[in-house]
Amino acid sequence: ISRFSSSRATAEKSDDDRFKGHDMLAPFTAGSQSADVNPLIIEKSEGSYVYDANGKKYLDSLAGLWSTSLGGNEPRLVAAATKQLNTLPFYHSFWNRTTQPTLDLAKELTTMFTANKMAKAFFVNSGSEANDTQVKLVWYYNNALGRPEKKKFIARNKAYHGSTLIAASLSGLSPLHQKFDLPVPFVLHTDCPHYWRYHLPGETEEEFSTRLANNLENLILKEGPETIAAFIAEPLMGAGGVMPPPAGYFEKIQAVLKKYDVLFIADEVICAFGRLGTMFGCDKYNIKPDLVSLAKALSSAYMPIGAVLVSPEISDVIHSQSSQLGSFAHGFTYSGHPVACAVALETLKIYKERGIVDQVNKIAPKFQEGIKAFSDSPIIGEIRGTGLILGTEFTDNKSPNDPFPSEWGIGSYFAAQCEKNGMLVRVVGDNILMSPPFIMTPEEVDELISKYGKALKATEERVAELKSQ
Ligand code: PMP
Repeated sequence: ISRFSSSRATAEKSDDDRFKGHDMLAPFTAGSQSADVNPLIIEKSEGSYVYDANGKKYLDSLAGLWSTSLGGNEPRLVAAATKQLNTLPFYHSFWNRTTQPTLDLAKELTTMFTANKMAKAFFVNSGSEANDTQVKLVWYYNNALGRPEKKKFIARNKAYHGSTLIAASLSGLSPLHQKFDLPVPFVLHTDCPHYWRYHLPGETEEEFSTRLANNLENLILKEGPETIAAFIAEPLMGAGGVMPPPAGYFEKIQAVLKKYDVLFIADEVICAFGRLGTMFGCDKYNIKPDLVSLAKALSSAYMPIGAVLVSPEISDVIHSQSSQLGSFAHGFTYSGHPVACAVALETLKIYKERGIVDQVNKIAPKFQEGIKAFSDSPIIGEIRGTGLILGTEFTDNKSPNDPFPSEWGIGSYFAAQCEKNGMLVRVVGDNILMSPPFIMTPEEVDELISKYGKALKATEERVAELKSQ
């Protein structure tokens, strides 16, 4: 396939050009990959499938990047974008000017989110910008309240919150920190709530959650509660390896945060709009956040847009203090871009009309049970997930403490087998992550399970072969 054929872009470049594969500095791609291997160029999408430049068809088990919830060719979203482009392709939202789709979307989002009352929506272009905005909002809020020392954030190991300076700092994944001089000093990290990997012998899930909540409390006390501004968490951890919270976790964590007047920021960038079988991840785990980050499925990824939802308490302080602190001097040229907002509004309308949560719950059991049926495989340590999100972790002896040698590249081998057979998955180390589009049909779920099974069989054989060497 084109990806492994000789480079397309070398003709005008000297032999010693280190970036001979193509001219893009590729995000989240190893330097050696962009230099030596042609990228897989995706040219077209249709429903749950994408097609590469050679016409090869792939089942897109990750829905783009956990994002194309309505699949690859929803004509209503194209029509909404076209209509808006023909009327008003752009106007900004600075200085009390804005556009109607922007206001309509803010209204829709603050109404839709019911886990806790939300008064305002601030628009951004991505999940990373949403989380950077959260930090600035919280700082502004605490400055307005006259407590300038309350500025630190607590995030969790293995969290993913984006890749801008602050969002990468909030993330708890070492590749995002190493070589970038991160995290910034006001970000602290606490335990990853992954029961299978981190529980003590004999510890129940509830006991594990209690221990983690105690550790959080101890961290807050050690730093001084007057310095801790907010805690940020994904309801279900996504890019770090798909880790649903253990029993009782959010109840215990929220009790600690309340005790020390620490705000809760829910990063719903992956979980929102139905992925977990509830409209928001906060609904599933009974989280009552003060601030919420949204992106991805907000527009089914057809346009780049994200949002921050703000509680009435925080927005009241920001508004009432603005004469003292000046305007809320934060925003982007494209905050509330009318075309992105029009597409997001149409996306939310489709979710409502089609009963998206029911639709997800119709296919989720088949997806969950079909993949979890492979749990007995000798090379699988754990399969975990809920709704339309699943992670598979390959380990030896079913133990979190027996990873396969990293040079064996077991996760990558599995992903390459899937790709060969016409399915795209996400690989993070020896984790395979999947989050199909909400529109996936039962037949497509069968296809996904069958392709997963084939790749697993080939990977089991590969492990046996490597072990015998
Ligand atoms: N938060 C979470 C939970 C995410 O999964 C992601 C992206 N995968 C982000 C934030 C960052 O979003 P973006 O890539 O749009 O900046």
